[in-house]
Amino acid sequence: MHSQKQDKIMANKNTYHRNLVTGGAGFLGSHLIDKLMHQGEEVICLDNYFTGIKANVSQWIGHPRFELIRHDVTEPIRLEVDRIWHLACPASPIHYQFNPIKTAKTSFLGTYNMLGLARRVGARLLFASTSEVYGNPEIHPQPETYKGSVNTLGTRSCYDEGKRIAETLCFDYKRMHNTEIRLIRIFNTYGPRMLPKDGRVISNFVTQALRNEPITIYGDGNQTRSFCYVDDLIEGMVLLMNGQYEGPVNMGNPEEFTIRELAELIRSKVNPQLRLIMKPLPSDDPLKRQPIIELAKKELEWEPKINLNEGLNKTIKWFKEHLID
Ligand code: NAD
Ligand code: UDP
Repeated sequence: MHSQKQDKIMANKNTYHRNLVTGGAGFLGSHLIDKLMHQGEEVICLDNYFTGIKANVSQWIGHPRFELIRHDVTEPIRLEVDRIWHLACPASPIHYQFNPIKTAKTSFLGTYNMLGLARRVGARLLFASTSEVYGNPEIHPQPETYKGSVNTLGTRSCYDEGKRIAETLCFDYKRMHNTEIRLIRIFNTYGPRMLPKDGRVISNFVTQALRNEPITIYGDGNQTRSFCYVDDLIEGMVLLMNGQYEGPVNMGNPEEFTIRELAELIRSKVNPQLRLIMKPLPSDDPLKRQPIIELAKKELEWEPKINLNEGLNKTIKWFKEHLID
């Protein structure tokens, strides 16, 4: 059920758009494409397949409203579109640390190129930013007004600082060129189509449990995260793009869990006999993270509906069906 405000946002959206989704073959991008395609929109999926896979969008290949382009956002591209959903960037620490210089280039040059495209064709651009702009936060939970505590020199900096400069570029394009921007700060999101080997905590724990391997807790497991199910996040993203509020706006599920609680929950669902083993905490790993989502509630009447228990059931079911050893 949509609220009245959400119905109004969607009613204002009485025309169909030509959408460019960068990073469209990835986890979030492919769910967004499903939603847009089901709404009758035209979609161009652009991806360099660094962490995305064609299988995520194969259901749309050959559809008259869908196109697939292999392209790297660090290079400019000329296209005629009126909505740009700029998601291209590896999101998991092991992937964004694989080539940190490329990650920083993807955020800076990639966002610069996509804003240039938006300016040229007069498109509205939604940028997928992250809770990582808050770094290892000194205030908890985090509101959008918090300026962040980010290490400029660490192993996560390529991602965190890349996203921060990309946010700056968005606002400078708005101020200098009146480019229409929307800025979402996404907190840890999970669900079907996460890569089994992408190293993020939910995909790691679920695949380990399904393979009867010990569950690897980094550090003492007392660090916290707040986990949002993908369907909730995509709904919020679409509301933000279609509405008048430009952000930045936090989107995530404010229910906070320690990593140990998460491990125990997944173990209880898959195999209560599994061992939990401790591994070293990666450097600069934030100790706690929880969004304040009052702004999203006020401006978009959005809040997540799927709790961790339900979201994990759906995710475990999907991994069971798709995990190939
Ligand atoms: P993902 O790794 O599954 O998707 C990223 C996609 O971008 C992949 O398909 C990848 O191949 C593509 N890509 C990477 N570099 C590219 C480049 N230079 N040119 C073209 N394509 C490129 O990650 P995701 O979880 O779907 O994240 C999508 C976006 O959301 C990212 O920008 C990420 O920073 C942001 N985000 C995600 C989360 C989360 O919890 N999933 C949290 C905060 C922010
Ligand atoms: N983590 C863990 N075991 C794993 C993978 C991750 O304990 O196998 C921890 C990680 O150290 C971090 C939290 O889980 O504290 C979330 O990690 P993830 O990479 O999913 O997201 P991020 O750190 O970027 O929020």
